[in-house]
Amino acid sequence: MTDYYEILEVSKEATKEEIKNAFRKKARTLHPDVNKSPDAGEKFKELGKAYETLSDDNKRATYDRYGEDGLKDAGFDTGGPFAAGFGDLNEILSSLMSGMGFGGNFAHFGFGGHDTAGDDLRLDIEIEFEQAVFGVNREIKFEHLETCPSCHGTGAEKGSRPVTCPKCHGSGQVKQVMRTPLGSFAHITMCPECAGSGQVINNPCKDCRGCGRVRKEKTVEIRIPAGVDNMSKIRLSGEGDAGLDSARAGDLFVVIHVKQSDYFKRDGNNIFTGLEITPAQAVLGDEVSVRTLDGETKVHIHAGIQSGNSVKIRNAGVPFLSKPSHRGDHVIIVSVRIPTHLSEEEKNLYRKLHEINGGGKKPQTTLKDKIKGAFNA
Ligand SMILES: [Zn+2]
Ligand SMILES: [Zn+2]
Repeated sequence: MTDYYEILEVSKEATKEEIKNAFRKKARTLHPDVNKSPDAGEKFKELGKAYETLSDDNKRATYDRYGEDGLKDAGFDTGGPFAAGFGDLNEILSSLMSGMGFGGNFAHFGFGGHDTAGDDLRLDIEIEFEQAVFGVNREIKFEHLETCPSCHGTGAEKGSRPVTCPKCHGSGQVKQVMRTPLGSFAHITMCPECAGSGQVINNPCKDCRGCGRVRKEKTVEIRIPAGVDNMSKIRLSGEGDAGLDSARAGDLFVVIHVKQSDYFKRDGNNIFTGLEITPAQAVLGDEVSVRTLDGETKVHIHAGIQSGNSVKIRNAGVPFLSKPSHRGDHVIIVSVRIPTHLSEEEKNLYRKLHEINGGGKKPQTTLKDKIKGAFNA
């Protein structure tokens, strides 16, 4: 049960002036032009309904005594689309709020208007890691609304055509006079007979049941460009739902989900991989074969490399979307693996090395020195 006083946040004894002020204040925060929460439109309508009722002495008295149902029984239309439709509210607001920063332009957001443009649609697809790096052609399948081919969007069965709406005589609007405590307002609202189109269909098209649009599955091939990242969007202009009355169609947004790679890690346009080397390779340096996005390639490990150091291959990362000839880097992070399963020969070589290094006689590094060293590094 909706409480109109609660909606306006006024007491049951509120004066007309208080009600007007409360409405004005709330309307400014709830107006869908400024409030983007999804239920703002609904709340705004409710607010209008509450104001419409409480600002009219007769309606308020009926409401106070019998509630919302009482209004209906008394012949006050509370539920109809135009009882507190956006068209009415536009008028009330325009008169109340001129010079309050709204500019009086409430024409969009369906305020008594007739939104005929087609909806935007979204399609999610998944691609492989390497496909995102180098780009790929991909066939996609989706459903959207197309202009009905049988009636070419008119909604009228073959051989017939929509006729001028008898209620609004083709204008799509009807004029109503509303009495409010602020005076009488002649206001224009959308024609309920033809929903603002100015035309009615007496013999609806069988294929689209008069809607003018039909649901169709479509397959197209798209080019996913090199360098796309996870959650990149590709816009296919005009591939959303068809508009009504030859209004523009919506767009289709293809959202790309990129699978992760077991081997490569990507950060923006750079690629990271790991490489394990032996102590001998670390000490002496080496040429090693590594896997890159472009295949196997040789990289030079310089003598004396430490665990955690990296080797960079420039221009071997992910291409830049804006400039595909330009690529990020491939960073190879090196770690030295201490061998655990050694042959007798290897063990002897390590023993020899150990002796040359002074065996166990060399002074041991204390934990304290180690910590100091780490801070000095
Ligand atoms: Zn049709
Ligand atoms: Zn009409």
